[in-house]
Amino acid sequence: MKRILSLLVVCVSIPLVLNAQVSKQEPVKKPLPIIDIHVHSISMGNFQMGDLCPWFLENMPGTDPKTGMSFPKKDCVDPWKPAKNDDELTAAFIETINRLNITAVVFCDNPKMLFRWKKLAPDRIIPGIGVSSPGDITAEAMSDSLSSGFYKVMSECAPQYQGMSPSDTSLDKYFAIAEKLDLPVGIHMGTGGNGMANIMGTKFRAAMGNPLELEDLLHRHPKLRVWVQHAGYPFTDELIAVMGWNAYVFLDISGFIWSYPQEEIHMVIKRLIQAGFGKRIMYGTDFMGYPKMIEASIGLIQNASYLTEEQKRDILYNNAARFLRLDQGKMN
Ligand SMILES: [Zn+2]
Repeated sequence: MKRILSLLVVCVSIPLVLNAQVSKQEPVKKPLPIIDIHVHSISMGNFQMGDLCPWFLENMPGTDPKTGMSFPKKDCVDPWKPAKNDDELTAAFIETINRLNITAVVFCDNPKMLFRWKKLAPDRIIPGIGVSSPGDITAEAMSDSLSSGFYKVMSECAPQYQGMSPSDTSLDKYFAIAEKLDLPVGIHMGTGGNGMANIMGTKFRAAMGNPLELEDLLHRHPKLRVWVQHAGYPFTDELIAVMGWNAYVFLDISGFIWSYPQEEIHMVIKRLIQAGFGKRIMYGTDFMGYPKMIEASIGLIQNASYLTEEQKRDILYNNAARFLRLDQGKMN
């Protein structure tokens, strides 16, 4: 183990020396800040997915109950490899957020991993804790967790996977806590249905991902700050309707940004900007297990020729900084 560690130290120290030499002639610029508002703290012990080619949902030909359905697969030259274990995932994630100057909103899927990452990069990690059904956590426990000050957002809340609406009254007590504590709430909407009916079971309901399902919730909690995750795809018109109706609703483009066809992603971003909501689109990955996901997702925004520099900065940082109130120098 010690030998491995010392080898790692050597490997890491070489680029640092090279950087030091370069910096004498030309100072290395710190990249402009980025906020990734949608990161999962998972353990690779439970991770069951293999290599993944981004934008893999470009061909869904449909099949027959007789032959069954398998998850869409795509070939690519350079597939994303899952991290081999928690140590590799942690090292890659922390290295990437430091190098690219990223602040990450990390959800408590695995408390051990979240605490570990927070310790390693305290100024770059904003912890979150979510609830998807009343069986997950009691309202008292949620209130205690959020009141502790460690968690700054309530997310990811994904009642859609339970076939429930975010306005389901059984979840109301949780959202009331977030409103009272003035903490933003991230709600999974739209995507995630691929293969759900055929492979994984039937609780997921596409209809429960419609942003219009937020209306009763927002009516009951007029000061709640909600962000619609995964752009509520494909309910773009409905999302536009809700954002027009309620100025406190923002959105993230996580998951959607690396799984659907690129033209489709750009069409949605363009549509949202065209409809006047360029200041509410927030960058996010849905990071889980694949270290390369972060840079590929940022690249999609940075290489989008139809976006101005200001629009790119809004998506990658400014909008989330405003939503999270980081631009006021504090959360809350
Ligand atoms: Zn989600």
